Amino acid sequence: MLLHASDTHFSNFINGKLLPAASGDYLPVYNPAIGEVYAYAPASDSNDVAHAVTAAKAAFGAWANLPLDRRAAYLIKMADLIEEHLEQFALAESEDNGKPLSLARSVDIPRAAANFRFFGTALLHFSSEAHYTEGMGINYTLRRPIGVVGCISPWNLPLYLFTWKIAPALAAGNCVVAKPSEITPRTAFLLSEIAQKAQLPPGVLNIVHGYGTKVGQAIVEHPQIKAISFTGGTRTGAEIARTAAPMFKKLSLELGGKNPSIIFADCDFDKAVATTVRSSFTNQGEICLCGSRILVEKSIYQKFKNAFIEQVKALNVADPLNETTNLGAIVSAEHLQKVLSYIQLAKTEGGTILCGGEQLHLTDRCKNGWFLSPTVIEGLPHDCRTNQEEIFGPVVTIMPFDTDQQALDYANSTEYGLAANIWTQNLDRAHKMANLLAFGIVWVNCWMMRDLRTPFGGVKSSGVGREGGWEALRFFTEPKNVLISYKI
Ligand code: NDP
Repeated sequence: MLLHASDTHFSNFINGKLLPAASGDYLPVYNPAIGEVYAYAPASDSNDVAHAVTAAKAAFGAWANLPLDRRAAYLIKMADLIEEHLEQFALAESEDNGKPLSLARSVDIPRAAANFRFFGTALLHFSSEAHYTEGMGINYTLRRPIGVVGCISPWNLPLYLFTWKIAPALAAGNCVVAKPSEITPRTAFLLSEIAQKAQLPPGVLNIVHGYGTKVGQAIVEHPQIKAISFTGGTRTGAEIARTAAPMFKKLSLELGGKNPSIIFADCDFDKAVATTVRSSFTNQGEICLCGSRILVEKSIYQKFKNAFIEQVKALNVADPLNETTNLGAIVSAEHLQKVLSYIQLAKTEGGTILCGGEQLHLTDRCKNGWFLSPTVIEGLPHDCRTNQEEIFGPVVTIMPFDTDQQALDYANSTEYGLAANIWTQNLDRAHKMANLLAFGIVWVNCWMMRDLRTPFGGVKSSGVGREGGWEALRFFTEPKNVLISYKI
């Protein structure tokens, strides 16, 4: 059992200790399914960040020089402990974020454990380059940890994305000051207890809760934090880049998306429909990888639309704790209003709501929760605001296209370039489209199938840099070239 699973006042985790914010202030944490405050997180500020950086700096030398197998053992222990407490973590994540418990249990928490296990083993196999230079000698690249690094993550996949940054940072030998979203801080708080149980040396991992504009900003501004790994909105990413660039910090920015699902007439129809329902509405559409623009070849447009709408209408929007729930609650009242405002915008832009479009009022425990029915909109041009801006909720548009080139033009027309998925049985077309789509990730005949070794990230306004596998370990290390001169 996790001792702190039922705490209503969360703590920071600094230098191995659970602490309140230096100010003693707390901020409210809501359960979106019931629309009420259910806990409080420390409202930290730059004093807490400074405390965490001091602890991290003090821990750095020993952690960076630990034999690799011992560092690996700590991370693998973290993975084991998360798995051991999977049910408590899944419940905490569902209550904090509004996502279905079944999803947290089958995706979020197993993936958080997998992140620690993956990078805990990856560090044992990480190697660097050597270049023999004729007449000169041999160059080799040393890869040393950077020092103290900052990890800032969003609310949609709270523990999943938090650990996706922390695990490679620690694996590479850095000490971490991390901030979860203030909207979903609970599993990050529980991770503190996992770190204590794993006997992670004090100061190696520090978790500071609070508002982005205070704690996040303080992490980005701190001169001793040499690299920032951030996942969140494009506007926040730009703000972080503005602050960090003059300080010459290393930056990894995973930002927003407006992803296309492109359905060709020669697709495996049933699979394309069923997967597009999932890619549109999993986690209430609050995944950066969700497809939000469905482009369908004209000859099958009506057939696809009818089958798709039928399956969307069958989705169960209900209490996240019910095992049969497909969509849970929207993460916050503010976000619900934002998503509803985009539905309104779509109407003013001439869109027709094919299904959904309304806030849902459930009964009983969830009567004040923030629920929205899955919404499908047609009749909009590809370049209108609804089709260009990130909505990040259970709202998709559907539109026909005539040719491969038109599909490509529509798909590539936004400022974003995170992930695209295409559906075709034509191998030639699949390769051509994959090459020409301006996205960091392209899935062909599938969606969100992940191998943690692959480069993860977007182009254009979807981000800078790549996470995953060696990319992450390279980001979290500083390369140094050494030339040994000799003549044969
Ligand atoms: P935000 O950009 O609002 O917040 C992300 C994190 O940054 C939060 O912890 C936030 O804290 C913090 N933050 C806010 N302001 C600052 C600041 N000035 N300096 C430093 N940190 C700050 O994003 P959301 O949490 O709303 O997440 C949704 C967004 O994340 C969407 O745009 C989505 O596309 C994107 N995303 C991208 C992914 C990718 O891999 N490309 C994956 C998942 C989501 P606080 O919560 O306290 O404001």
